[in-house]
Formats: sequence, structure tokens, C-alpha cells
Amino acid sequence: MSSGLVFTGNDDGVYVSGVTFHYKDELKRLGAKWNPEKKLWWFSGAQSVETVRSSFEELLKEVVENIKKRKIQIRAEEKAKKLWDASPEGKKARVLEALRTDRSKYSWICCEESEVIDWNKMVCSCDTHGFRVRSHAWNGT
Ligand SMILES: [Zn+2]
Repeated sequence: MSSGLVFTGNDDGVYVSGVTFHYKDELKRLGAKWNPEKKLWWFSGAQSVETVRSSFEELLKEVVENIKKRKIQIRAEEKAKKLWDASPEGKKARVLEALRTDRSKYSWICCEESEVIDWNKMVCSCDTHGFRVRSHAWNGT
């Protein structure tokens, strides 16, 4: 990936030109200061253009790598969540949460002790209350 930025050495440091807007965080992290008169980012002191450019490119690589890693991580988390949601434990956890908050979605489930027999046909059984029900209204027990 190329930033397209131009690094130019000067008596008082290295100036950065080009479309710097997207890279201002990285430039700041490396110690660049904004020069409002020249409207350029600027590294003060006797650093060579090559040093500044290569540390900028290193940082940029690192940033891109971190973004990639984060994306992979997010995908893995999403996949894990989907697997969890689809698993019997995940469904049970969702139901228990719904029974605590909003019963309307699972009004066919007798109570927290219920065992779900068929998710699609909405059949549960409950040993505690002796039910094998469909569309059973929650009675609060
Ligand atoms: Zn019950």
C-alpha cells in the first residue's frame, strides 16, 4: 500500500506533502507537527528524509496489519456468536433472557424449567407443571 505522500528534506527538518489528511494520526504519532503557514506536516530536527519516510511506512504497514487482524477477529467473533446462537445452549440462553424480559416471543414456553421439544412447531414440555404444550400462555409460575 502506498500513501502517495511526498517527503522533502529541508534545513529545518522534513516536510510531508500530498493528501496527508488520512494520515494525520500516523504523522502525529511519529512526532510530526502541523505547520499552519506552509500547510504541511513537518518533522523538525536533523532527520534524513529516508529515516522519516521509512518509519512512516513501517507505521502504516503496522496500522494496516492491525486493521486486518481486527477484521479477522471480528469475523471470528461473529462466527462464534452465530454458532452459539444456533446451539441448544445459545437458544436456551436466549429463551431464559426472553423469559426474564419479554415473554411475548416465547409465550409457548411454559417456564424456565421447560424443555423445548420442537422449535419450529413451538412445542415444549415441562415436568414441573406437567405440560406438553403449544402456544401455552405463561401463567407466571
Ligand atoms: Zn413450567
